[in-house]
Amino acid sequence: MLKRMRLLNPGPVTLTRRVRESLLKEDLCHREPEFSEMQSRIRSQLSTVYEGAQDYEAVLVTGSGTSAVEMMIGSLVPKEGKALIAANGVYGERMAKMLRAQSKAIEVIQSEWIRPIDFDRVEKALASSSFTHVIAVHHETTTGRLNDLHRLGGLCKKYNTPLLLDAVSSFGGEEICFQEWNLEALAATANKCLHGVPAVSFVLARRNALEGKPSAATSVYLDLHNAYEAQKKGSSAFTQSVHGMYALNEALEELRDQGGWRERHRRYSQHMQIVVEGMRELGIEPLLESEEASSRILIGYRLPSRARYEDLHAHLKRAGFVIYSGQGKFDGEIFRVAVMGDLGRGDFEELIGEFRTFLQKLN
Ligand SMILES: *Cc1c(COP(=O)(O)O)cnc(C)c1O
Repeated sequence: MLKRMRLLNPGPVTLTRRVRESLLKEDLCHREPEFSEMQSRIRSQLSTVYEGAQDYEAVLVTGSGTSAVEMMIGSLVPKEGKALIAANGVYGERMAKMLRAQSKAIEVIQSEWIRPIDFDRVEKALASSSFTHVIAVHHETTTGRLNDLHRLGGLCKKYNTPLLLDAVSSFGGEEICFQEWNLEALAATANKCLHGVPAVSFVLARRNALEGKPSAATSVYLDLHNAYEAQKKGSSAFTQSVHGMYALNEALEELRDQGGWRERHRRYSQHMQIVVEGMRELGIEPLLESEEASSRILIGYRLPSRARYEDLHAHLKRAGFVIYSGQGKFDGEIFRVAVMGDLGRGDFEELIGEFRTFLQKLN
């Protein structure tokens, strides 16, 4: 029997037995027709997770979520283009860093990490200058904030500017509106809300942004158009993670069998409610202005006074839970709890019990 670790970090997630067992399938060369079929199946399943994505093509890349994000913005933002980036956390800032590294022109509308995107400044920028793309993070995992994409996407529509979205920690667990948000492409990964293993990530891009369009990639490996051309023919530009794809294929079938993203969202919401109510009762303060500002996937809390993160983490780990620390300036100030993966009500009730024990010991 494997020890059951309950991962409350934002990916990789606690695997279901079904996905874990898929890793034990037969060895397979990525140049064989069986692989080609599986890759095509995964690509078509990815474009049907959400309604409204018929005109989008999934392009797979072997690498963590960051590789898909870099592949997306690197290949789609033209060399002579200019992108407007709305950033309120590590992941928005990372995309600015990527485009700077590629010497592409950007304007960053920066907000404090605990603040929402500054939509007024975004609108002013869009009204006064011309941008080839707007770039943002859907669920900013740094704080757990679900950015208001209805508002940002509405601005992209109004100013007729295509949106490139980091949906790495929301794809499969939160609503995504492809048409209404003027979405040109999003990037996501197998090992967060889709419940696969870390190995494979992907870009879902409008077919007309891929077909017959030159790639703006400054990287050989992360060239979206090159990868698309190969995958369209049933091939792949480089060696793919065969086992990662076994797991993603199984995870996508499982998602479908369980009722799709809406059902997964509903389940996450139920578990998040247990966390929210439990923490409230224990007097642990949410990081954002309200719990409703958070996604239903991950929530950030301020460390209780006198508690050290290391002690809290160690206490919970002994009970079989792994929580997540704060990044950057939040290190040692906050902790985060994600509800992704194969977890149930009982796990979250037990988690709250462990927090109670920890606080009792502290006092
Ligand atoms: C997890 C995550 C990423 C990718 O991180 P990797 O470590 O490369 O998997 C990108 N953006 C967001 C919002 C994320 O949560």
